[in-house]
Amino acid sequence: MSQPTPTPLAGAQSEVADLLSELIRIDTTNTGDSATSAGERQAAEWVAAKLDEVGISSVVHESEPGRANLVARIEGTNRDRPALLVHGHLDVVPADPAEWSVHPFSGEQRDGYVWGRGAVDMKDMDAMTLALVRDWARTGVKPDRDIVLAFVADEEAGGRKGAHFMVDHHADLFEGCTEAISEVGGFSITVRDDLRLYLVQTAEKGLAWMRLTAGGRPGHGSFVHDDNAVTRLAAAVARIGSSRLPTVLTPPMREFLDAVSDAYSIEIDPNEPEVALARLGSISRMIGAALRNTANPTMLDAGYKTNVIPGTASATIDGRFLYGQEAEFEKQLDELIGEGVTREWITYDQAVETTFDGPSVDLMVQALTAEDPGARAVPFTMSGGTDAKSFETLGMRCFGFSPLKLPAELDFASLFHGIDERISVDSMQFGIRVLDRFLRQA
Ligand SMILES: [Zn+2]
Repeated sequence: MSQPTPTPLAGAQSEVADLLSELIRIDTTNTGDSATSAGERQAAEWVAAKLDEVGISSVVHESEPGRANLVARIEGTNRDRPALLVHGHLDVVPADPAEWSVHPFSGEQRDGYVWGRGAVDMKDMDAMTLALVRDWARTGVKPDRDIVLAFVADEEAGGRKGAHFMVDHHADLFEGCTEAISEVGGFSITVRDDLRLYLVQTAEKGLAWMRLTAGGRPGHGSFVHDDNAVTRLAAAVARIGSSRLPTVLTPPMREFLDAVSDAYSIEIDPNEPEVALARLGSISRMIGAALRNTANPTMLDAGYKTNVIPGTASATIDGRFLYGQEAEFEKQLDELIGEGVTREWITYDQAVETTFDGPSVDLMVQALTAEDPGARAVPFTMSGGTDAKSFETLGMRCFGFSPLKLPAELDFASLFHGIDERISVDSMQFGIRVLDRFLRQA
């Protein structure tokens, strides 16, 4: 009697949902303030234990007490080749249980989904990566090149205590890494039954959060007054908030629009690409923001009493600029801000961009089509930011490649930082099979 051959990756595919549930149950809410951020240390220790169980050793470095970052290296068989980094963040944004159908930190499994904060951003990829390397260790699989794993803190507040800290203080751990994969990309958009676009992130916008401050003459609220800081600030904020900066089609965005045009057999007007992007559903809100620099007013602060005109007023603006557009963006801002209002950066981080070509990209394409014959990989530009901004400074080409074959009807974009965040177990199992093909040979 011959034994049935075990399904490849059976272990990884059967444990990934439980790994994700366990990780979601460790509340790693990142409020932006270390005093109230909890759980990152516990999560890093949990990852360390899961790796240790299969004989993979790791190191944990804290940027501050509790802000823990874990790195492990899986040796490849071909030590002459450069290494590849797989990085994921362990922190999540806050969630209010009152708004959710299940408790956001329950990790509940229901209807083929794992529910909870972090299920798509990005504990799913963390769990997929862990499940895969544990399977490899148990079955004796070795990748071709070294695979470095990083599970970091603080991405949701800009990564100063996570990826930036590791790059600044422990760069040696990433020695030899020339490429990196992580969020946000690799997920599918269904065009029709036999065609799905898989959006691989090759570029992301830079981040320029700023404070505007207007000065004026303080005085009594009942007097005639023509030098009011609140009025001056409000006018600048209104100009910024109601303006739409010009469309700029970067090379990766052109490539993306060509792919959309081809997939849907539609013409795209380069002056109004939004019309075509709307075909993609809710994800077009994320992608559409990468057609131009953007600046959205977010906070206002002025005054302390109704009958006192304050001497200053301030506002914060969330600014995002395309790769290569820093100088142009500053010019655009200053024209809108006008006289008597100063601008200072609060948080500033670079835009990153790489090309959608080379052996690793070819392998991503092959791995996707091997698991989904209807797959077509396309490069896309993210409007938000990720830890790629940090790792790129070490000379790595960074890709958003967390492969997921998503149900056609799922509104994936709204789940990021959203209510009832959840991920289908099938999608993660697909992702593990794609990652296995990719990371073995990459
Ligand atoms: Zn994320």
